[in-house]
Amino acid sequence: MVKKYFELKDEVSEKDLLEMTPWALILFSNFVLYCEQRGLPVKITSIKNDGANIKRVSKSHSQGRALDISVVGWTETQIKKAVSYFNNRFKHIGAISFSDGQSRAIVYHDSGYGAHFHLQVRPMDEKIFIDKKKGLLAKTLEKFPHILKEKIKCKCF
Ligand SMILES: [Zn+2]
Repeated sequence: MVKKYFELKDEVSEKDLLEMTPWALILFSNFVLYCEQRGLPVKITSIKNDGANIKRVSKSHSQGRALDISVVGWTETQIKKAVSYFNNRFKHIGAISFSDGQSRAIVYHDSGYGAHFHLQVRPMDEKIFIDKKKGLLAKTLEKFPHILKEKIKCKCF
């Protein structure tokens, strides 16, 4: 029997996985690996279709850049560790907040439908470039000049 690394909530269509951006798939794959190594459950509760009339605050879901994961079976400590792990390691592809300009790959929140992880990446055309002297250069540079000060660990993108 083939091992299943993650589950989908009944209302979630697996076809929506086909419309995820490559960066969203990279983030999700790493999340699945992280959980597999720690024996934590992964259940997708939302990709594009909600199965309910959920009002979305951002377009990240409709653009294939986000998915929601249940925290059932997770402790508060495990949740906190995962949030800091992914926000540190995936800064280079995390979605950039309109309010504070910070890059976040994972947000743990309750948008009114129960607390869950919201995994998110920036759009594929927000490419980032690394300048050896100046550090990280992003398309969002004019809006968020502080990005230059951030140091980046991974140079994959
Ligand atoms: Zn979400």
